[in-house]
Amino acid sequence: MILTITMNPSIDISYPLEVFEMDTVNRVKNVRKTAGGKGLNVTRILKQLDAEVTASGLIGGFLGEEIKKDLDQNKIPHDFLPIRGETRNCIAVLHEGQQTEILESGPVISETEAAAFLKHFAKLAAKADIISFSGSLPEGLPSDFYSQMLQVCQPKPVVLDCSGAALAEVLKGKVKPKLIKPNTEELAGLLGRTVSTDVEELKTALSDPMFEAIEWIVVSMGGDGAFAKHFDKFYRVRILKIEVVNPVGSGDATVAGLTAAIEAGFSDEAILKQGNVLGMLNAQEATTGHANFANYQTLFDQVKVEEVG
Ligand code: ADP
Repeated sequence: MILTITMNPSIDISYPLEVFEMDTVNRVKNVRKTAGGKGLNVTRILKQLDAEVTASGLIGGFLGEEIKKDLDQNKIPHDFLPIRGETRNCIAVLHEGQQTEILESGPVISETEAAAFLKHFAKLAAKADIISFSGSLPEGLPSDFYSQMLQVCQPKPVVLDCSGAALAEVLKGKVKPKLIKPNTEELAGLLGRTVSTDVEELKTALSDPMFEAIEWIVVSMGGDGAFAKHFDKFYRVRILKIEVVNPVGSGDATVAGLTAAIEAGFSDEAILKQGNVLGMLNAQEATTGHANFANYQTLFDQVKVEEVG
């Protein structure tokens, strides 16, 4: 079983508008509302991959109930810890080819809730083969909370996709995740410098001592594919140009592809291919966290993984 963790989920609302007018009323049809947060995107893709998945994290209030309903409707097993605060709304106004986002920061988690979650998580983790942690930590949790979770779920492998202080703390921590998936921006944030798609530059970047003892580092590079390090092997993943409809959530789809492939015991090449194919399939769909599997094999055969030292 794959356990997915979303600590700060949301109901994602998209408001498509021809024109967004300030300081007056904007009326909107075709409103779309989905259970969101990076971990739930990962969950939806895993479900479409036919993986056995359970979603967990923290939810509260009316919107928390809506998330559970959404998962039930999609026949996705879940076991969230209820909290006193309210799960958030995240609103995207799509207008004139632009996207204006209003993101609530979400509930503030108490120390008691944090301790209760660690216990809840330890029980679920014991039943999992592999676990993914995705996205930001809600307010109230210390920035080393993912490190605390890594300690309580030992020796289960963890695929981690987060950024900023939460990621920096994990890199400093004693127990390491099996895989991290920074994108180029997140990699630059960690290193304090931008990194191009040049193979030698990427090799140097991933050889930085901060990544020591992390088995897999997969840097996703949008339309440029990916670059990866597995133990002491480096791989360049090259992809073809595709028609992109909506790349939001492609990184989450990649995480789902990588996680399911690792659980299934795929080769390095197949793990990287599946991760990229899922990212590409997500980018080809309007809905975040959706993939049209009819195109899976064609893309899988076209993605090239080259070992580069
Ligand atoms: P994130 O969403 O975390 O920023 P990326 O944008 O790097 O992650 O996307 C993850 C993967 O999805 C990429 O490695 C690639 O395989 C695929 N992908 C994303 N954007 C595109 C694109 N514009 N064209 C083709 N593939 C894409």
